[in-house]
Amino acid sequence: MKILKDKISQEGLALSETVLKVDSFLNHQVDAKLMYEMGTYFKKYFENHGITRILTIESSGIAPTAMTALQMNLPMVTLKKQQSKILNGEVYQTTVHSFTKVMNYELTLSKNYINKDDKVLIIDDFLAHGEAALGAARLVEEAGATVAGIGIVIEKSFQEGRSKLEEKGYDVYSLARVAKLGKDLIEFID
Ligand code: 5GP
Repeated sequence: MKILKDKISQEGLALSETVLKVDSFLNHQVDAKLMYEMGTYFKKYFENHGITRILTIESSGIAPTAMTALQMNLPMVTLKKQQSKILNGEVYQTTVHSFTKVMNYELTLSKNYINKDDKVLIIDDFLAHGEAALGAARLVEEAGATVAGIGIVIEKSFQEGRSKLEEKGYDVYSLARVAKLGKDLIEFID
């Protein structure tokens, strides 16, 4: 997605060789028009996958996912990043490790918002080591539903997330694939 790559080149900040900061349009301030454009790309790629529901992870996945859900006319569900206080069998929960923040967190999904017949598209802002997407996929499969695809806004292709997801057989589509980060350097794949 050329306009996304241009935006990353203009406004992205490589904090190190592994972490990219895009607070000006995705993670803090949000460029709604760009989010809408992302929705058109996700729709175009996934529209024939029989998707019935779109899942994302709070909080930075919400904006691009809402725009995609709007365009695909599908329900959107946000996975919560904290442990549910009511563990009464009404939720699915899994622990995810964040290599970026060096911590574990819980992903929670209410049983009310997923069915075993659902074909789910998972969308997230970044793909790094793949742990967040794999956690979301575990919840979908625990519910007896199917992961129909994984949409990523920014993939850091030098980390192993994509290969871990592809090993599991998931169809991964990323809007921008970063090949390399360094001081004043952001390189893309194609
Ligand atoms: P993973 O689980 O694939 O290792 O990491 C994905 C999650 O970590 C994303 O949901 C995102 O919140 C965060 N993340 C990973 N790498 C980056 C990065 O370079 N920049 C930002 N802003 N977030 C990141």
